[in-house]
Amino acid sequence: MTAPLEVLKKVYGYERFHPLQEQVINHVLEGKDALVLMPTGGGKSLCFQVPALCREGLTLVVSPLVALQRDQTAALQSNGVAAAVLNSTQKPEESEAVLAQIVAGKLKLLYVSPEKLFSGGMSARLSAWKVGLIAVDEAHCISFWGHDFRPEYTQLSRLRQILPGVPLVALTATADPAIRRDILAQLSIEEDSVFQSSFDRPNLHLSVLPGQKRFERLQEFLKDHPKQAGIVYCLSRAGTEDLAEKLCNLGYKADAYHAGLGTEARHKIQDAFLKDETTIMCATVAFGMGIDKSNVRWVVHWNLPKNLEGFYQEIGRAGRDGLPSDTLLFYSYADVAQQLKFLDDANPDRRELLAAKLDRMKQYAESLMCRRRILLSYFGETLEKDCGHCDVCENPPETFDGTLVAQKFLSAVYRTQGRATLRHCALILRGSHAQEIIEPGWHDLKTFGVGQDLKFEEWMEYGAQLINAGYAAVAYDRGMSLQLTPLTSPVLKGEKTVALVKYVSFEEKKAAAPKPKAMAASDGDPELFDHLKTVRKKLADEHEVPAYVIFSDKTLKDMTAKVPKDSTEFRQVHGVGEVKAESYGPIFLRAIMEWLNSGR
Ligand code: ADP
Ligand code: ZN
Repeated sequence: MTAPLEVLKKVYGYERFHPLQEQVINHVLEGKDALVLMPTGGGKSLCFQVPALCREGLTLVVSPLVALQRDQTAALQSNGVAAAVLNSTQKPEESEAVLAQIVAGKLKLLYVSPEKLFSGGMSARLSAWKVGLIAVDEAHCISFWGHDFRPEYTQLSRLRQILPGVPLVALTATADPAIRRDILAQLSIEEDSVFQSSFDRPNLHLSVLPGQKRFERLQEFLKDHPKQAGIVYCLSRAGTEDLAEKLCNLGYKADAYHAGLGTEARHKIQDAFLKDETTIMCATVAFGMGIDKSNVRWVVHWNLPKNLEGFYQEIGRAGRDGLPSDTLLFYSYADVAQQLKFLDDANPDRRELLAAKLDRMKQYAESLMCRRRILLSYFGETLEKDCGHCDVCENPPETFDGTLVAQKFLSAVYRTQGRATLRHCALILRGSHAQEIIEPGWHDLKTFGVGQDLKFEEWMEYGAQLINAGYAAVAYDRGMSLQLTPLTSPVLKGEKTVALVKYVSFEEKKAAAPKPKAMAASDGDPELFDHLKTVRKKLADEHEVPAYVIFSDKTLKDMTAKVPKDSTEFRQVHGVGEVKAESYGPIFLRAIMEWLNSGR
């Protein structure tokens, strides 16, 4: 048997294991089952790939999506590993070739869909193959309670009878207790074989902005992420198309993706993104599962998602390579109203649960404390101290006596008699002569124009804080108009003081956030990095694989920093295993040499 660390270095070119990978690998190599719960990007694949390569025999990998199977196989092959796919989209002669490889004992990893596994006499053949390990990827698909339930997955329990005594590793990024119970029960895994890593993703920067001026804000955000791949999640299909068109008009390489497109169109769009041809994907939540792209540098949520699970999974698609990545959520009451409307259509049995989940999502968006703490507490984890890497931590809340501000605002709410929205109240206080204020006659109110000392954005912010603290309420079912609450009157009567958190402008927030694009001096020359990316793209096209299958961004960064001059130095670069050193080394070394000689 080869030692796991040796496989890690030789095949993958990595120096050390991520937390928990080593424990899982050793456990599996002892012939035991395991359930591995790790966030997206945590490094689940190595938990079964390394044991597969340490030992004799075939590892069967059950995986739900063809795209995922294809990309993982390509990545393994590029590292010189004998891996192949069996699925229903293949031609018979392709399948035959793979089967012949298995019978000859040449294959190490076989990726297969559950449908294929139990069709055409496959299960009879299984016991004849020397299967040493079973891996069930995206194991949450087995659970009826999961958002990705796949009935075919429930057949997998049969594998335990067909292949008795063969250890099984199930892997997922969903940590929901009901789903976890389902996986353990259906696959007959013992409770003490569960490995759960932290769900924290410290490389993701978290931030939230009010929903006003979204497009302008997005443009500024994009200026900070030049040429970097990212995803904008939108609520509606029309929204994705609209946004993609607007971005294209500005010269960005953007495209729209949603479930309303045909399968072929979807594949094409997804492929272009994987191959770095499209940089911005405007998508509904239909996009993402099975996207292994490691160099997604940012994720923006144009609208409020319906719960933190979905949100975390979506932002988790950024920074799988561990490099710093940015996330941004736009938040407005209109989005909340929209989500509440969806709840009306939900199954009555589940409505209360869904409403509670939406509430936790709102808490994240409205938070005046470290956002990562809120996020992790949702997954049952506690953070010892504030993260220092979210917009709240970067702009620590500074409170002041906001009683007068509160009185002015609540008086606007009071005098508009439950008919004005937050925006209306802000406009009234500012003394705006907009049509929407004049028409209802609000310019005659005593409160009109008494708040000119503060900007519109400040009123929006303070109004939101007062609503969040319960001094006024949003009637989502009545055009989001603001209503009085039992807490309103004591403030208006001067019986109660109110503390508010000082408003921080977008510009100030931006100044406080880390600059994502700047490469540190130790990272080497950004021009060389760009040059190496071009070389990678060309190679990827030649081999018809996504760029990250050749080398990850992290590898190219390390190459830029180390500037290797020969094959020994090249071998020291992060993510360069023996096979890639041999197949791509000369090409990249030549590119580096040419670049150096060109006098830069
Ligand atoms: P997951 O399936 O959990 O989302 P992956 O298995 O795709 O995550 O791994 C995410 C990325 O991290 C991949 O690019 C992978 O090659 C890389 N990776 C995994 N383990 C290590 C490690 N020990 N050292 C360096 N990179 C790693
Ligand atoms: Zn924080």
